Amino acid sequence: MSDDILIQTKDLSVGFRVGGGVFNKQILKAVDGISIDIPKGSFFGVVGESGSGKTTLGRALLKAVSITGGHATYDDGEVQYDLAEMTPAQLKDYRKRAQLIFQDPYAALSPRMTVRDIIAEPLEVMGLTKTREETDARVRDIASKCRLNLEHLRRFPHAFSGGQRQRISIARALVSGPRFVVADESVAALDVSIQADILNLLRSLQEELGLTFMFISHDLSVVAHTCDHVAVMYLGRIVESAPTRQLFANPRHPYTKALFSAIPSLDPDHRGTAQKLEGEIPSPTNQPSGCKFHTRCPYAADICKLEEPPLESCEEGHSVSCHLWKELQHYEHATQA
Ligand code: SF4
Repeated sequence: MSDDILIQTKDLSVGFRVGGGVFNKQILKAVDGISIDIPKGSFFGVVGESGSGKTTLGRALLKAVSITGGHATYDDGEVQYDLAEMTPAQLKDYRKRAQLIFQDPYAALSPRMTVRDIIAEPLEVMGLTKTREETDARVRDIASKCRLNLEHLRRFPHAFSGGQRQRISIARALVSGPRFVVADESVAALDVSIQADILNLLRSLQEELGLTFMFISHDLSVVAHTCDHVAVMYLGRIVESAPTRQLFANPRHPYTKALFSAIPSLDPDHRGTAQKLEGEIPSPTNQPSGCKFHTRCPYAADICKLEEPPLESCEEGHSVSCHLWKELQHYEHATQA
């Protein structure tokens, strides 16, 4: 694996046994054959509807759920770990190197703990500091980097707004000095004006601390302003992956196009042209044959129901999983001409 890659996965899968009973062997494949490279110091976006497997992918890379197939390697230059098979000592060390920022800043913070104790908790649980003075110094340092008022460290979470609570959550995630951070819908519960503030904070923390982010969101417009590269997931698989500008300029997969057309526009010329996604994402326990998107795709042909399309390169850094991406591209050019 190249030196500038922090995490690399090959055919990564996560499955869960569902239903009860000794003879029940039904497996829910939440993540199915994912191969990605996450460069060091990047903002890697993962988008898709609820049920697409993006949260499970993030948790698998944090070792919060077990990897049931394939490989995932973490290499920050100091240590290299095979995430599928870690010893307890490696896992303990990995916990301080990989952290999660939760979605809901209201539910994520204990109402009975002061802000100081909330931020200090990971240091104490992981045994990263020896004295209270050392703990306090690290808490104050990360709190000020997260633009929290140091006088507020003695207060309880109920005294703060949603944006301030999310800053506390971010400070708690970063206090152990991680290299890799999964931000799972971390601005979804916030007002739009606060979202921009938190996204700017994450960007500046990334530069200041040299962090690598996996940014999980259902909202492409949020991803557009934050991420360097975006992977689009559907039913546990990546259907399109590209540098953000390239993906926004020229989306190839019908699912990605439908997600784009769902972004609200203030331009009157673009209103009413939304390509609506029909129906619900199918259950992961009962996945369609062939292309997983064929039950909702307006362009589905016979081959789509029979054969699963490979994720193939369509231009430098840009790959797509669709049998008909070339034909659809030609058709689009012809209708625009
Ligand atoms: Fe649609 Fe077929 Fe492409 Fe799947 S492979 S996205 S069903 S056109």
